[in-house]
Amino acid sequence: MIIKKTRDEIDRMARAGAVVARAHEALIEALRPGMTTLDLDRIAEQVIRREGAVPSFKGYRGFPATLCTSKNHEIVHGIPSAEVVLDEGDVVSIDCGAIVEGFHGDSATTLVVGGIEAADPAVQRLVRETRNALWRGIEQVQAGHRLGDVGSAIEAVAIEHGFGVVREYVGHGIGRALHEDPSVPNYGRAGKGLKLTKGWVIAIEPMFNLGTEQTRTLDDAWTVVTADGQVSAHWEHTIALTPDGPWVLTARSDEPARPLEVTATAW
Ligand code: MG
Ligand code: MG
Repeated sequence: MIIKKTRDEIDRMARAGAVVARAHEALIEALRPGMTTLDLDRIAEQVIRREGAVPSFKGYRGFPATLCTSKNHEIVHGIPSAEVVLDEGDVVSIDCGAIVEGFHGDSATTLVVGGIEAADPAVQRLVRETRNALWRGIEQVQAGHRLGDVGSAIEAVAIEHGFGVVREYVGHGIGRALHEDPSVPNYGRAGKGLKLTKGWVIAIEPMFNLGTEQTRTLDDAWTVVTADGQVSAHWEHTIALTPDGPWVLTARSDEPARPLEVTATAW
């Protein structure tokens, strides 16, 4: 069942989204070679608690941390650890959620340690184009459009660049629960699927791999990795469909919260 949100609820979700954005901004600012993924987790939890919010993931189905931190060939759900050191050129996807006034915000970003130029050109392209695909999907969040429009816009970017599109893990509705209906796949056929209507709030989260789309899960029962060991990237935002079009509730200060007001080529 899809739970539509009222304007007041979307305003509350925007406050949750803003906390998540602040956490990502702090992590981007702090990231240095030699840090561990546990260092990142502590920074994020501090920001979230300081804002009077609660981490969404900690305790979710037993997950032990504030962030999911997934390095290089890890796709999603990596567990922050003092043992996982981030060296120059490593790719780390950071997924963060926070609860404010009972509502969740959820957003992921993929960073290269030492700056994007520290990665191989192919990896740079993967990171940039996965982000681009997220925004191509966000542009489709309009009343009367269908979930297949979102998925096909995202998938088209992967096809253009020959990336594997992860299929087992997809976007989702979000609200009082971290994961609500509907599922929001990163693939699909334009014009097919459920029709988007005002009041929907969804998390769109493309995961693209340099190689195969196939995944496997490590023995910790959380960390999902690429089956061929090649690098993966993951970007995510929480988006409300308002009467004025999509509102990116987790937009950072360097991103447009109202993407249809910027030119389509901005991303
Ligand atoms: Mg997430
Ligand atoms: Mg999510």
